[in-house]
Amino acid sequence: GTPDLYLGIDFGTSGARYALIDRQGAILSEGKRAYAPVGDAADWASSWRAALFQLIGDIPPARRPSISSISIDGTSATTLIVDSQTGELLAGPFLYNESFPDALPAVEAIAPANHTVCSGSSTLCKLVSWWNTSGTSGGAGSAAVLMHQSDWLLWLLHGQYGVSDYNNALKVGYDPEIDAYPSWLISQPYSRMLPSVRAPGAPIAAVKDDVCSQYGLSKECVVCTGTTDSIAAFLAARTTEPGRAVTSLGSTLAIKLVSKVRVDDARFGVYSHRLDDTWLVGGASNTGGAVLRQLFTDDQLVALSRHIDPAVASPLDYYPLPKKGERFPVSDPDMTPRLQPRPESDAEYLHGILESIARIEAKGYNLLRQLGSTAVEEVFTAGGGAQNEKWTAIRERVLGVPVRKAEQTEAAYGAALLALKGADRRVILKSPSRTC
Ligand code: ADP
Repeated sequence: GTPDLYLGIDFGTSGARYALIDRQGAILSEGKRAYAPVGDAADWASSWRAALFQLIGDIPPARRPSISSISIDGTSATTLIVDSQTGELLAGPFLYNESFPDALPAVEAIAPANHTVCSGSSTLCKLVSWWNTSGTSGGAGSAAVLMHQSDWLLWLLHGQYGVSDYNNALKVGYDPEIDAYPSWLISQPYSRMLPSVRAPGAPIAAVKDDVCSQYGLSKECVVCTGTTDSIAAFLAARTTEPGRAVTSLGSTLAIKLVSKVRVDDARFGVYSHRLDDTWLVGGASNTGGAVLRQLFTDDQLVALSRHIDPAVASPLDYYPLPKKGERFPVSDPDMTPRLQPRPESDAEYLHGILESIARIEAKGYNLLRQLGSTAVEEVFTAGGGAQNEKWTAIRERVLGVPVRKAEQTEAAYGAALLALKGADRRVILKSPSRTC
């Protein structure tokens, strides 16, 4: 029959996962592979490549001809420099958290104050650092191109150069508001290395013939632009209406809210990603599960939570942090953790901590509102804290809006939804008037 399955692949910080879904969003098959690079930076690229093809090989062979489209997300600001004549890796991968402070003065000299590129780990700092040390003198000529991690992995499947998405491109300086690179960036000599930018989930090209025949994929299978791993995890919750939000309660607390209005404020590390016709506004606090893990095992958390009455507000007022420093919703690099006074009862202590983290979460949503975003109306929860129903009830009381566990939270599932979106747009790819 006609291919009617959609493949999403997530390249996160510790491993790669795939999810294969049908048109209704049901998961038909999923799997994961760890990557274990040995030696230098270039080995990261080979281990990603190996994981990509291992995952495709893990998909039940009978399903593979039914795959209609593929999308991949990667860690934000993970960057590779590739020779577009030979496909050879010229430099990198520069990992998401690697910092290039040597490039900061040059970047700060051209970018607007407090722009997201003005951080040593931004994609633009990686590009400028490479350009200043080897780009002009290293014989790379005019063939060198910049790729984000997901661009590179998608390129292994489709073979076309120079296509990215506006989520990944944000940290190289792309302006999603005007849907173009800003003039301060275009005027730089290295701007010719920048990819053209499309919406996430836009069809790029069919899977290369050799990949199709080796893995038994359909020749019709189309590769679509990807996104970053954290946006893919947000997309998994399928909450794209303004006012809907996802709070991630993992080691840290991160909130993402769909807003009609774009909001950016560097003081709080708040910035907006484009999401079709809306904005995804995000902020991240240093509070969260890491503090809980310093104090209690996960089993203790379950046992102690049974003794908490979530309808009663805890009078204990803490600011749980694993170490000094907070960015959002309070910008204070010197803020010290506050976890005193500790009551006799561990259940009361935990209640106070969960309540205090809920207040920080509420303060976060209030801050986004004050900065101009759409008001939060409903919160979905991801991460280890999502399974704690007592905490969910506390948060519902403190936030004053419905709170529930997100059904899907895997970034691979969000990437599969992008593939589904792209499959519906493939007709555009086939039209004769297309421009590349
Ligand atoms: P990470 O950000 O490290 O991926 P996870 O999403 O795996 O985090 O969540 C792990 C966190 O969830 C831990 O810090 C742990 O303290 C917290 N956690 C686990 N179980 C519970 C629970 N029952 N109640 C509250 N928090 C929990």
